[in-house]
Amino acid sequence: MTEHLHLLHILHELQQKHRYISEESICEVAAQLSLPVSQVRAVVAFYAFFYSTPCGHYHILFSNCTSCGYRAGGTDLIRMLSQKLSVNIGQTRKDGQLSIHETSCIGMCDHGASLLINGVPLIHLDSEKIEQITDLIEADKPLNEWPLDWFHIKDHIYKRGLLLEGDLPAGDGLRAMLARGREETLTEITQSKLRGRGGAGFSTGLKWHLCQQATGEAHYVVCNADEGEPGTFKDRMLLQQHADALLEGMTICAYVIGAYQGFIYLRGEYRYLLPHLQATLLHRRKLGLLGTAILGQTGFDFDIDIVVGAGAYICGEESALIESLEGKPGIPRSRPPFPVAHGYLGQPTVVNNVETFIAATHIVCNGSEWFTAAGTTESTGSKLLSISGDCAAPGIYEYSFGVTIQQVLEECGADNVQAVQVGGPAGTLLDQTAFHRQIAFEDVGTGGSFMIFNRERDILAIIHQFAAFFAHESCGFCTPCRVGTTLLKQGLNKIIIGQGARNDMAELQRVSELVRRYSHCGLGHTAANPILDGLQHFPQAFEQQLTQYDFTARFELDAALQEARQLTQHDDKGAHLKQEGD
Ligand code: SF4
Repeated sequence: MTEHLHLLHILHELQQKHRYISEESICEVAAQLSLPVSQVRAVVAFYAFFYSTPCGHYHILFSNCTSCGYRAGGTDLIRMLSQKLSVNIGQTRKDGQLSIHETSCIGMCDHGASLLINGVPLIHLDSEKIEQITDLIEADKPLNEWPLDWFHIKDHIYKRGLLLEGDLPAGDGLRAMLARGREETLTEITQSKLRGRGGAGFSTGLKWHLCQQATGEAHYVVCNADEGEPGTFKDRMLLQQHADALLEGMTICAYVIGAYQGFIYLRGEYRYLLPHLQATLLHRRKLGLLGTAILGQTGFDFDIDIVVGAGAYICGEESALIESLEGKPGIPRSRPPFPVAHGYLGQPTVVNNVETFIAATHIVCNGSEWFTAAGTTESTGSKLLSISGDCAAPGIYEYSFGVTIQQVLEECGADNVQAVQVGGPAGTLLDQTAFHRQIAFEDVGTGGSFMIFNRERDILAIIHQFAAFFAHESCGFCTPCRVGTTLLKQGLNKIIIGQGARNDMAELQRVSELVRRYSHCGLGHTAANPILDGLQHFPQAFEQQLTQYDFTARFELDAALQEARQLTQHDDKGAHLKQEGD
């Protein structure tokens, strides 16, 4: 393992041991790894799950996901917990017993309002459970003495298709690959027309081919297991139930491109899956399916390390993920060059997500024709959807591409639907006139998130929550995104509180287009999607909040200077701006 990997591992260990990472620790780690102190400090500052002041003995991260939310039954659960335990949100209680923070989706949208406590998901929150949690924390009960069913995560698979129906014994994919040979395997993947399941839909066969052809000192395989798109949780189940097929897909890719080392970049919120994944790796090494001379083939050497992320949504972007793997802040790189030629450590690298690698294993076992028999011409095979929100059965559904939105809604028991957000906040907000459309790369593409909102939901509030999400997750590298996402959030807020005028709708449109056009990476390119879709499909949600004026100021300048007046203790008439009509 390389030095920069040690950095993320070491920081996680320090965080767990001391509940924060001190300046002293930063200097020690920098000296230990011969890294600049500024680099280690920047990494600690960048990731939300590294703290510069101590967290509590019980550290709570409340999911504020739009889909499951924390206002179960109309109760604001996070505020309820914070009041009962006498601690402000975002702070640690003075006695050090607990800290409460908000975080984005933790991948539990099918389990209602949820939180992570010391990294472990606690589900189906309601006010009664909040009372019980309060008592347990005040009584200092260890987590392993809390009711077990609070932590019992179900898979909630309601529809199985190509990938979930069949059970692949460990090693079958590798044996099928060796029987075919390297080039035939690549041909099979190419002929299957498998496209990346993360949402962008790049041809997997072409990606592997380009990486295979690229020259470098070493080639790498990276699995993007950082699904952070709010409303997505299918990887949680895949990593738990189909880890062998995933590791096999990575190993097949390694054989094709000539890699000896692979990495799984696991999202920090799924850290609790680490022991299971490590046990699976160990088991495969014992079976001769990982390590040296895999399946007895001299020269077929490949192994996999797991690197755990630390709460940065942007690390789902492949070049940001690679930066993070290298022990840096996850700031997206300029492209080209693309990772297939210049990826991890500047070497040719394939980055695919969990579902893509699992699909590759199935294709190698069953053949490309088996795969292309399902789906559409441009979108072959199946797609796993994480369905959440207002429906009877939130969970995981695997459909062949080409299924309509309406069919999905009917099968998960969604009534009275006002809107569907496909692909998470970065995706597409659809009203009912679009429910005939298909889930497919050529129509409505998605990484898997499918959020349903019925007519009782406030669409403007949902769009505002998405805007707040992007303003929070912008990495800050480029101005259009860093400033633009905040302006969009503030502009929406102004309308929501009843101070917006028609001009503000036009301004939202204008800033949205600037953010989309001039941002550096995919986050910025898509951050304004919910607003643009909302303005197009739900204009009445904005209009009904507007004031009668054509223009109102976004904030009152004189009021904004109040803090400065207090600081300078200068609050006479001359310290106030002259107002109209004075
Ligand atoms: Fe960072 Fe946003 Fe710019 Fe992407 S678009 S580099 S997330 S600031």
